[in-house]
Amino acid sequence: MPTKRDYYEILGVSRDADINEIKRAYRKLAMKYHPDRNKDDAEAAEKFREVTEAYEVLSDAEKRKRYDQYGHAGVDDQMQDFWSRGGFQESHAFRDFGDVFGDIFGDIFGFGGARSGRGADLRYQLELSLEDAARGREVELEIPKQMTCDTCHGSGARPGTSPVPCRTCGGHGQVQMQQGFFAIRRTCPECHGQGVRIESPCVACGGAGRVRRSKKLKVRIPPGVYDGAQVRVAGEGEAGVQGGPPGDLYIVVRLKKHPIFERDGADLYCDMPITFPQAALGAEVEAPTLEGRVKIRIPAGTQGGKVFRVRGKGVPDIRENRTGDLYVRVRIAVPKRLSKRQEELLREFAAETGDEVYPERASFLDKVKRFWDDLAGDVR
Ligand SMILES: [Zn+2]
Ligand SMILES: [Zn+2]
Repeated sequence: MPTKRDYYEILGVSRDADINEIKRAYRKLAMKYHPDRNKDDAEAAEKFREVTEAYEVLSDAEKRKRYDQYGHAGVDDQMQDFWSRGGFQESHAFRDFGDVFGDIFGDIFGFGGARSGRGADLRYQLELSLEDAARGREVELEIPKQMTCDTCHGSGARPGTSPVPCRTCGGHGQVQMQQGFFAIRRTCPECHGQGVRIESPCVACGGAGRVRRSKKLKVRIPPGVYDGAQVRVAGEGEAGVQGGPPGDLYIVVRLKKHPIFERDGADLYCDMPITFPQAALGAEVEAPTLEGRVKIRIPAGTQGGKVFRVRGKGVPDIRENRTGDLYVRVRIAVPKRLSKRQEELLREFAAETGDEVYPERASFLDKVKRFWDDLAGDVR
């Protein structure tokens, strides 16, 4: 799982930064990375998301306390919630954005200023098993979202009527005000930037032009997705406002814990117990893979902790044209209960053998002895 960066580090503030420092830092970074200023720049979009999340947590006393105490684990659930509700549109950073950005910035950020507003991006969390993530699969999702109203086709006006230009702003969506030396343009308070007024609203959507509904979607998840991977489905976010383009849907993959395998990138790891006689005598054993089983030859005298690599039995690498490997680490299992006869045999075996048949143990004892000798030498 890609590790999340520290929120303080993301905003570049110290751990005891006060709320004003945090606001300043966020404002600077958000301006830099805002999607409206970085069109089609995935990296900037990710950065914007990152700083917004950091701000969302650190600007909220309650969440910040939890984060300080428990780290990401303390707020992850809430943040997942936050993004799945549409992210920053819901954020208090934007609810009181006048506070953070000042009205002057409203235009840059497209708040309200959007006459043909692009619909919001949506995030959907998808839990996948390791097998499904490795193979890829088609999933059927039901996404609740704002969709264009069928009755008015998004105009918000009752069929047969049309929206009229807003009288306050003359249809510009913005009004200009003089403040000292500065002419400040701000979102029209009357039409909230839409530039139009609806005199007889569509009954189906109440004039909003959009209605909330669920949409069923089939989405192909490519093989090799990792935990936290985002699959973008263009145009399946919320419907745009006033005929604006729709947002995108991002499916965020969460991998379920697997009972046998641990995954690291494209490689899989598995701990496998083998018996003491198998390790001592050598054996051919079956190891599990995602697709079935594979034979591993254990050479005589194998020590616990030895790792066997099975090439190509990991997970496809989504970035490169290769499949990872499977690493099987053997553990030596020790019998827990023995029959009389088994115990006899083992005692006989033990009486028959000394440290010399356990080279690992002999070498350890040797090291310990030398260590004690040196220690005694130092004391003297
Ligand atoms: Zn309608
Ligand atoms: Zn207006």
